[in-house]
Amino acid sequence: MNFSSLDLAPEILQALDACGYSKMTPIQQQAIVPARRGKDILANAQTGTGKTAAYTLPILQQIVDNPKPTTPENARALILTPTRELAEQLANTIKAYAQFLPISVTALYGGVKMSSQEKKLKAGVDILIATPGRLMEHIVQCNVNLSKVEFVVLDEADRMLDMGFITDVRSILQKTNKKRQTLLFSATISRAVNELANKLLVNHEVVSVAKKNATADTVEHVVYPVEERRKTDLFIELLDEYNWFQVLVFTSTKAQADALMRNLKKDKVKSSLCHGDKSQGARRRALADFKSGKIQVLIATEVAARGLDIQGLEYVVNYNLPYLAEDYVHRIGRTGRAGSKGHAISFVSREEERSLDSIERLIGNKIKRINMPGYEVTNRDVLRKKLSKYGGSSRSNKSSQTTIIRNKDNHSGGRRKK
Ligand code: AMP
Repeated sequence: MNFSSLDLAPEILQALDACGYSKMTPIQQQAIVPARRGKDILANAQTGTGKTAAYTLPILQQIVDNPKPTTPENARALILTPTRELAEQLANTIKAYAQFLPISVTALYGGVKMSSQEKKLKAGVDILIATPGRLMEHIVQCNVNLSKVEFVVLDEADRMLDMGFITDVRSILQKTNKKRQTLLFSATISRAVNELANKLLVNHEVVSVAKKNATADTVEHVVYPVEERRKTDLFIELLDEYNWFQVLVFTSTKAQADALMRNLKKDKVKSSLCHGDKSQGARRRALADFKSGKIQVLIATEVAARGLDIQGLEYVVNYNLPYLAEDYVHRIGRTGRAGSKGHAISFVSREEERSLDSIERLIGNKIKRINMPGYEVTNRDVLRKKLSKYGGSSRSNKSSQTTIIRNKDNHSGGRRKK
């Protein structure tokens, strides 16, 4: 289905054309029409599905249908999102969709001065994108008034719940117009997300484009069993062997990220860090360098990299498996976006077998195992048998595919160095 069938304002169609979009993605096909009619929506859409346009276009169209002068400190639309990077990225994307309209878009997030954001609010804003914590600070300082907010989007609602923002989100929403339209987007639909939807949405429609907790079909998943202490060696060896051009690596902790960075530096691999101890400026630079191809490896922790859209990213490496299986879906969401190919490569230590089992059950698939000679882990089969006995997936044992890497072309798309 083309956007032209939607009867959107010419300025919006022109912007979509400039972005190079012609056909709607499935979430856009399902969400835009009811959202434009003013319905509240609960959308289950994984990252990379085109969800930003799915909620932004109906809001832009309704603003066009009912124009009002831009006033200082008052926004008409509020988009809440869990992280600074996402807020910044959303602001850029939404500005692109609104580029031919007289609509002002501002993002508020931590790590930068309050005063510059206050100035922008004073100059007038129509669409406000914010992380809950920073928005609360502006509310306390009376820099912003939400009573005229007609549209609210909770983007990555599951993540905001996980990160403990629920109290802030609730008190922010209490300050908005009671008659507002609310659109709740979440990559995973848990009981907590459903409860939130039931509290915040009125007579809402449910739209869903992915299997529950699914990962994109275009992503190939593999795991490398490896002892924890040998992960850096394995990473460097794979990097060298396959010459991955641009790889995003997730570690569980900042300390692991720092240690990996130090080791990569020793090996002269161009890399940068994106985690919570880095300033906003440093994180922005790291991301820009990564996107432009200046650096080969971006090492990130969960929170910092949440939802980042990196065009054409082919490789995501889980240096550690995430504690929560749902986070695997989020991490992997960075690759294989909008139909392009991606590879999800996970290092699994003996201690992480249980997490792998939960992940496989969540995504409903067994992940291909690659045993790299020289990195074998002993006693793993015993542990896996035990897991299946105590409630782990019995499929793990039956359909286990073990592959030895030396087979030609058996790895996820990596181009081996000749
Ligand atoms: P999102 O899920 O909103 O982060 O979007 C993921 C990626 O898909 C972004 O790079 C968007 O620019 C792109 N995208 C969104 N909608 C479309 C569309 N209809 N056609 C092509 N690309 C799109």
